[in-house]
Parts: sequence; C-alpha cells; structure tokens
Amino acid sequence: MSKTHIIGGGIAGLAAAVKLKSSGQKNITLYESSKYLGGRCRSYIDPHLKITLDNGNHLILGCNDEIFKFLKIIQADNRLEILTSPLKIINHLSQKKVPIPYYQLVKFLLRSLDDTVSTASYFNLESEAWQDFFSPLIVSIQNTHPELSSAKQIQNCLRKIFLNLNLNAKTPYQPVHNLSHTFIEPALSYLGSKSVCPLHLLTGLQTKDNCINQLIFQQKQIDIKKNDRVIFALPIPALNTIFNLNLDLSKLHNPISNLHFKLDHDLKTPQILGLSHANAHWVFIKKDHISVTMSHTHIKASQKEKMIKSIWEEIRTYYPTLPHTVPEHKLIVEKYATLNQTPEIIQHIKNLPLPQFHNARLIGDWQYLTYPNTIEAAMRSYL
Ligand SMILES: Cc1cc2nc3c(=O)[nH]c(=O)nc-3n(C[C@H](O)[C@H](O)[C@H](O)COP(=O)(O)OP(=O)(O)OC[C@H]3O[C@@H](n4cnc5c(N)ncnc54)[C@H](O)[C@@H]3O)c2cc1C
Repeated sequence: MSKTHIIGGGIAGLAAAVKLKSSGQKNITLYESSKYLGGRCRSYIDPHLKITLDNGNHLILGCNDEIFKFLKIIQADNRLEILTSPLKIINHLSQKKVPIPYYQLVKFLLRSLDDTVSTASYFNLESEAWQDFFSPLIVSIQNTHPELSSAKQIQNCLRKIFLNLNLNAKTPYQPVHNLSHTFIEPALSYLGSKSVCPLHLLTGLQTKDNCINQLIFQQKQIDIKKNDRVIFALPIPALNTIFNLNLDLSKLHNPISNLHFKLDHDLKTPQILGLSHANAHWVFIKKDHISVTMSHTHIKASQKEKMIKSIWEEIRTYYPTLPHTVPEHKLIVEKYATLNQTPEIIQHIKNLPLPQFHNARLIGDWQYLTYPNTIEAAMRSYL
C-alpha cells in the first residue's frame, strides 16, 4: 500500500493529513520537529503567567470556507464562537467609531488590478478613509506596510469579505478556549496517535532520478518506496536549510507582537476592538487575559516598558474598570510571523529556485499567495 509522508505539523500539514484521511487514504504519517503540533497556530501554557496563551490572536471570518470544512471533518465546528461584539475600528484620537467608507471600498473592489502594483497607488493617503480605516485594516490582514502591500492580494481578500453572497462572510469568530483546543487537539484525535510523530526534525534527503528515496531525520532515516509521496508543509527558512538553498531570507518576513495581560476579573464587552492612531492595533478580551496584537511591529527591548505602559493606558480608555497599575503581562514577538506581502516579494517567492521532485510537493501559507498568509491560505495550499 502506498504511503504519504507529511513533513511539518503546522496547520497546512495537519489539514492535508485530515483531507487525505477523509478521502479514504489510510497510510499517512505526519512528522513534526517540535514536541507540540500547530506551528504558528498553537497554544501553550505560559510558565510566568500560568495561563494558556495562543501564539498570536487568530481571527477567523465567516468567509473562511476551508477552515469551516476542516472543523466539520474533525468534528470541532462547535469549538469556534461568534464574537459578541461586531468588528469595528475606533479612532483613538477622537475615540469615535470609524465609519466604513463604502464608496472608496466598492470602487477599490471593482477595479481591475495587476499583480505588480502596491496598495498605496489606489488610495489618497492623506484621506481620513485611508488613515482611519484602510491602513489599519490592511496592516492587520497582510501584516505588511499598508502602502507597500500587494493591492491584488488585499483586493482578493476584501472581495471575499465584502462581495460575498454568504451573509455570514463578515461574521468574526474566535476559538472557544484557545487555538490548540479548536484546531490541533481534535485534528490529532481524528488522525490517531500512530499517524503523528512529534520530535522528528527533518535535516536532509536522499534523491535519485528526481525522486526522493530517503528522508533523513535527526535520529533516524526513513526509506521512501516507489509509490510513496512526500508533502513538505514547511516554511521557507526550513526548506532553505533542508535543501541547502542559500537563500537571502533577510527581507522576506515581517514580525507580529502580541502583548498578553493577565486578568483577575471577567471583562465581557467589547470582546474585540480595533484601534487606529494607537500603539495597540487589535484588543481581544479572553476569559483570563487581554491580548493585544500589533501587526508588522517589533518592539525593541529599549522601548518595551514605555510601550507596555502606553498600551495599557490605551486599553483602559475603553475598559474603565481595569486598574491603573499594569498587571502581570507577557510580550511575545514572532519574528517570522508572515511573509512581507509586497508585490515584489510575492513575485520573488514565486520565482524561488526550489527543487522539484516527481514524488513530492510543497504546501504552506506561502504557497497560496493569491490570499494573505493565514490559516485559510495554509489550508487552501493543499486543494
Ligand atoms: C502572531 C500571529 C498572528 C496571526 N494571526 C492570524 C489570524 O488572525 N488569522 C489567520 O488566519 N492567520 C493568522 N496568522 C497566520 C497563521 O498562523 C499562519 O498562516 C499559519 O499558521 C501557517 O501554517 P503553516 O502550516 O503553513 O506553517 P507553520 O505554522 O509555520 O508550520 C510549519 C511546521 O513545520 C515544522 N517544522 C519546521 N521545520 C521542520 C523540520 N525541519 N522538520 C519537521 N518539522 C519542521 C514547524 O515546527 C511547524 O510546526 C497569524 C500568525 C502569527 C504568527
């Protein structure tokens, strides 16, 4: 019986394994380098705060069709909840809700765009609509400087949200407890423990006639038989090492910073808040903590304390029952959170000199660049 070997237990690898199993394939093995699965979409118990944190806040929208199909297969569609507050952006300077600039939005969505143009070319950068609405929205979706980001990619994504016959397309969802509870644990139960091998770091390969015939892991080698297939569900830096590509990775990725404040009492509404003209970009209220996302932001050690205080003050404006004193907190900066999704980098990624094998393929969020790097893109990369 032929076998499929999947390398990388992030959401792309897990979704591919789940799809294969649900279509009747029995012989699947998923290898993951770390102890825990989920990659960038994982949760963990923070040893300092002693609560479960997500590696970053992940917002899911009703238009993310592949996510809902995946959750249905693994019987976890009840592990997403609709946020009780609608998505809105507040101008932190005036503290007023930013109206959706429908005229400029529809004009942008209906334009015919080519792949080479950045978003800034289509907007008046001095306008309120840009500064209060499009700029904060785009940076949070593409995690890229909004003036430099790919216009075509953000248009595809906004069309899916705003020009969708599904009335639920704009509905915001979040995991009921955390990312691992919703996405990872039920996927592992569905696949069965025998199919999943954590602590397997792939370090190299043996090939013959453009076919992979051996996978070399840190501790052992696995032979690939004639009709077996290999799926690499790995990010570019991992492929760079495994295939000895010697790529210059310095400008390919952008960071996301997440600041988690421990809560000692329930804060109900609003469950989510977008801010423009503030250091905090999106504020998520969880059961036992408040989590703040700052896209395309790397907080330097020298600015850390000042920044944390200022973000706490920003949050207190909208949640006045919070204390003056900054509570216990944890700042997590994910350096390689997503690609820098400019037209130039997208083109560069498409032209990377990646090896081609008859019995292997590459998947992952960076392989589906018509859409921003997201869970949805990672899942679509295997369609
Ligand atoms: C802070 C943050 C916030 C985000 N917010 C959102 C959001 O709101 N909505 C959304 O949809 N998306 C969001 N994303 C993006 C989303 O998390 C990613 O697009 C998605 O998780 C990518 O999945 P992947 O499987 O392609 O890659 P990865 O998650 O990177 O998975 C790759 C896996 O391969 C493993 N691996 C690496 N090297 C090896 C090796 N040599 N051998 C074996 N295994 C190896 C890694 O350990 C990892 O588990 C966010 C990401 C971050 C970091």
